[in-house]
Amino acid sequence: MALIVQKFGGTSVASTDRIKNVAKRVARWKAQGHNIIVVPSAMSGETNRLIALAREISTTPDPRELDVIASTGEQVTIGLLALALKEEGLKAKSYTGPQVRVLTDSTYTKARILQIDDEKIRKDLDNGYVVVVAGFQGADENGNITTLGRGGSDTSAVALAAALTADECQIYTDVDGVYTTDPRVEPKARKLDTITFEEMLEMASLGSKVLQIRSVEFAGKYKVKLRVLSSFQEEGEGTLITVEEDKPMEQPIISGIAFNRDEAKLTILGVPDRPGIAYQLLGPIADANIDVDMIIQNVAKDETTDFSFTVNRGDYAKAMEILKATSEKLGARGVLGDDKICKVSAVGVGMRSHPGIASKVSAVGVGMRSHPGIASKMFNVLGQEGINIKMITTSEIKISVVVDEKYLELAVRVLHKAFDLDKAA
Ligand code: ASP
Ligand code: MG
Repeated sequence: MALIVQKFGGTSVASTDRIKNVAKRVARWKAQGHNIIVVPSAMSGETNRLIALAREISTTPDPRELDVIASTGEQVTIGLLALALKEEGLKAKSYTGPQVRVLTDSTYTKARILQIDDEKIRKDLDNGYVVVVAGFQGADENGNITTLGRGGSDTSAVALAAALTADECQIYTDVDGVYTTDPRVEPKARKLDTITFEEMLEMASLGSKVLQIRSVEFAGKYKVKLRVLSSFQEEGEGTLITVEEDKPMEQPIISGIAFNRDEAKLTILGVPDRPGIAYQLLGPIADANIDVDMIIQNVAKDETTDFSFTVNRGDYAKAMEILKATSEKLGARGVLGDDKICKVSAVGVGMRSHPGIASKVSAVGVGMRSHPGIASKMFNVLGQEGINIKMITTSEIKISVVVDEKYLELAVRVLHKAFDLDKAA
């Protein structure tokens, strides 16, 4: 007998019929003798609808009230799911986050879970109940309702699994696992049986939006066994997200090709090359809450240097405005920008054990030395297709290139093939 947390995403509870199906699935696990905690999201589209209602009243809704409103979507699905479980002949009880004391900080709309009181849940489980806990929500120490950021019910499920030392946390969604790349771009993409937390973080942050990133970090930290599965298939083991030591020995060097379309690049030309310059350029960008991803500084010439960095495309206009002001202030030669770029990355912990591994440093240019064969293969393949590389960064488990947006699909497909990801492992 195991204790299993099962999280069902919005599409899995999108209608009462689907909720009945979820109840049937839970009943099958229960019949095998397992203890089950179920964590549903709101019905798909519901959280968006609720937030839109708030915005009809106020263009800048008070975040405290926004959380009061947005958290109600999950309150509906826990009640419906508990009813459906009872119809299956099970004992079931629903709780909102605050009712089982999911204690969070007070950062409305993106609160962090601090603690969960497991006592009530344990008692119910011991008494044979299936316990249904609302995802996405908690309360701060003053009892104010909080939410955990969009997609936050993944994190609720992982936090519950950690608090109750569950044997496994299963995330049921509309895909049957994590793939070597997005199957919409490369139909030959294969489902991975396992992926490490680190790889998953790279894949998730680069666009395969299977899990909330924070839930993966949380699971890695508390060693929660996390599995992604489809709620639309009866069978299947999904993808197990695991620690590196538990991965099979014979692992491929590259596990997947990730990408992000929403990138933009900015360059400032001819800035004086002196200490503190990077801070003077990027400080104002950070102060405007703009995340910077890749950063490259050129070799200085005539005591000036060029500096390029990438931001989310949504932040491009704002970043450009700030950089132009900085450019004037510093007497730079000018700024350039390109918001038609994308990032493509080869990801794999196997790179670490590749011959030639020299260093754990993941600074630009240094990490690459640890896997020269892979980097050169990647550049060669792209070059042969006539794809120009605009920027390169490397880390211990990833090589990323920036290319023209129009080459995204081609780049993903040729790399997927070059690293044999279309072949069964
Ligand atoms: N319902 C919330 C959202 O749409 C949380 C979740 O689905 O995980 O973001
Ligand atoms: Mg989700």
